[in-house]
Amino acid sequence: MSEVKLIGVVGAGQMGRGIAQVGAMNGFKVIMFDINADGLKFGHDFIAKQLAKGLEKGKWDQGFVDSTLANLTATTDLKDLKDCDLVVEAATENKKIKFELFRNLDEIVKPEAILASNTSSISITEIAANTNRPEKVAGMHFMNPVPVMKLVETITGLETSTETIELVEATAQKMGKTVVRADDVAGFAVNRILMPMINEAFYTLYEGIADAKGIDNAMKLGCNQPMGPLELADFIGLDTCLAIMEVLHEGLGDTKYRPCPLLKKYVTAKRFGRKSGKGVYEY
Ligand code: NAD
Repeated sequence: MSEVKLIGVVGAGQMGRGIAQVGAMNGFKVIMFDINADGLKFGHDFIAKQLAKGLEKGKWDQGFVDSTLANLTATTDLKDLKDCDLVVEAATENKKIKFELFRNLDEIVKPEAILASNTSSISITEIAANTNRPEKVAGMHFMNPVPVMKLVETITGLETSTETIELVEATAQKMGKTVVRADDVAGFAVNRILMPMINEAFYTLYEGIADAKGIDNAMKLGCNQPMGPLELADFIGLDTCLAIMEVLHEGLGDTKYRPCPLLKKYVTAKRFGRKSGKGVYEY
């Protein structure tokens, strides 16, 4: 296969709906799947609202909105992804969920298709081992919010072929993104650096060194970061941050990666951040 035309997106959460939107905006046909019908509808409506907002601001015209929406369909039946050239999985950051999805996708989707994961930290080699096409499995790690952030980190698993990674990268570029390639080691490049900083911000709060606003202001005003680490953690999702820290801790084995007990406590209390209305801050 030399070109991707039809993209399947698995998961219609913050990331999946962003990937689907950017794909459809750049001329790809996109099918978005979620197991949760309400979540799927929310994701589709969210994309339509984003497009309407852009229209109001004069970023694009009605014709562009119509053609983008015409490129996009939504389904709760995974089998509808069978003809996709590329599937980007963006379901919850959980090994069990992802491994099962890749086993099912491998059976359903045509054999020449590429199966990519937007995972923040789970091993691409391990995900690929759940399929009979490990050479056609790669990491395609978009950043949040997908329509705004320029980077796609691509990840080569042990068996990922050159043809596969090059086609994934060409597709990301057609979506207007810049690619950085990383090796398949826990956290890859972005989260190997970002998550320990966020985790350390939680320890700083936990140990009473500064309050939440103080920590965020320290990093914004003192280190020129556009968002403070705790604000950013709420934006990413505290459940996702904890899942990534657990993968770093388990995968790299160093105690410096142990998740902060306060982060764990917030997730236990279902304080997931912006998406649940409460995290470090209230929304
Ligand atoms: P989210 O909680 O917003 O959305 C997850 C979606 O997955 C939900 O809609 C849920 O219904 C769906 N889902 C769960 N199980 C499923 C299944 N078996 N089949 C289909 N859909 C299923 O999470 P998110 O922030 O969009 O994260 C999704 C993925 O993207 C994770 O792997 C995460 O690590 C990664 N990621 C997140 C960010 C971020 O900033 N949030 C950034 C980069 C990558």
